[in-house]
Amino acid sequence: MDRETVQLGQEMHRLVAELYPMPRSITGDGVRQTLAKVRERVPLEIHEVPSGTKVFDWTVPDEWNVREAYVAKSAGERVIDFRRHNLHLVGYSTPVRGRMSLAELRPHLHSLPDRPDVIPYRTSYYKPSWGFCLSHRQLESLPEGEYEVVIDATLKPGSLTYGELLLPGRLKDEILLSAHVCHPSLANDNLSGIVVLTFLAAELSKRSLKQSVRFVFAPGTIGAITWLAKNEREARRVRHGLVVAGVGDEGGFTYKRSRRGDAVIDRAASHVLGASGRVIDFTPYGYDERQYCSPGFDLPVGLFMRSLHGTFPEYHTSADDLSFVKPEKLEEAYRAILSVIEVLERNGTFVNLNPKCEPQLGRRGLYEGLSGRASPREFEMAMLWVLNLSDGGYDLLRIAERSGLAFGVVADAADALVKAGLLRETGVHAWKT
Ligand code: ZN
Repeated sequence: MDRETVQLGQEMHRLVAELYPMPRSITGDGVRQTLAKVRERVPLEIHEVPSGTKVFDWTVPDEWNVREAYVAKSAGERVIDFRRHNLHLVGYSTPVRGRMSLAELRPHLHSLPDRPDVIPYRTSYYKPSWGFCLSHRQLESLPEGEYEVVIDATLKPGSLTYGELLLPGRLKDEILLSAHVCHPSLANDNLSGIVVLTFLAAELSKRSLKQSVRFVFAPGTIGAITWLAKNEREARRVRHGLVVAGVGDEGGFTYKRSRRGDAVIDRAASHVLGASGRVIDFTPYGYDERQYCSPGFDLPVGLFMRSLHGTFPEYHTSADDLSFVKPEKLEEAYRAILSVIEVLERNGTFVNLNPKCEPQLGRRGLYEGLSGRASPREFEMAMLWVLNLSDGGYDLLRIAERSGLAFGVVADAADALVKAGLLRETGVHAWKT
């Protein structure tokens, strides 16, 4: 990789490290701190939705904040402490203050016997309870005796916080990019997505865009549901979308298709990944594509990730830490998603204005530009394919797929043919600004 690439990856990794300690949950100050950090780089709009707000079949919950949480031996020594690692506390634990025996405490302690050195990640958002998570090795080493248990938390009416950024394009058609922001100290599962989208927003804000690009940084499930409930009109403008999660580990890329299965985003992601990634079918399980692809919306939104969630041992444990996420992998993901967006931006459907037999390309100067190109033969083939298939039924992506040529060279050929007066774009966009 070139020097600039490594630097960008390292800058992204530094942001992951800054966000890592923040005590995120589906509501509360950890999410606010996270979005404030993102806002230092891009002009995010922050929305607060009050607890109790009805959002389709759900209700925005009470807000949860933790001052401190620990388990101490009677002598005062803290054996489990939220300050040491925020995975130690079960997310949305109700307040507790008391003394209890190990036997009484035991049902509230969670560990992974088959992975004895890591702290698991547990939450109890919708069922009031409390608990601590710790490594199985530590659990087994806890001596009998009395423990002081303190969860100094508030769980009361407040709000749910999400961040949004709209980069206006020439069209009102939108590309939606979404990441969840509710996981605490887990680096790959949610920080990699947040950071890659932040850097994409910074880059795309410098470009002239055809379609508008909307970024949503929201708590998983309830945040996406809340965004959809408050933005039903905007959601109808989404022409393409990606949920981005788990893109910093060393696994290869995985793209999960939208519910539609054959949306342009599905074809664009497959084309960009080519042989370097795998493409899997939609399932109604995973991240917030579950909400975007619910039948009442059925948005063309796929899931872009590396290793499939739930299939690697670090998933939802303290082993998903800063060393699990690699700068060069973040950078690769950023570039791959940027390439997908470039395909979405340049794709279009054209008609050949001279469809009866081949037009004379030489007469129109179309051979003259060939010599300056990296692969003149490929460019010539791209022009022939674009002229042949542009009958109003094939978009450029379909032409790239059928010809086996890279999308970029097909799009360049189309540009040259438009300039020469041989091609015209069809398809009127419904949402012209
Ligand atoms: Zn997760």
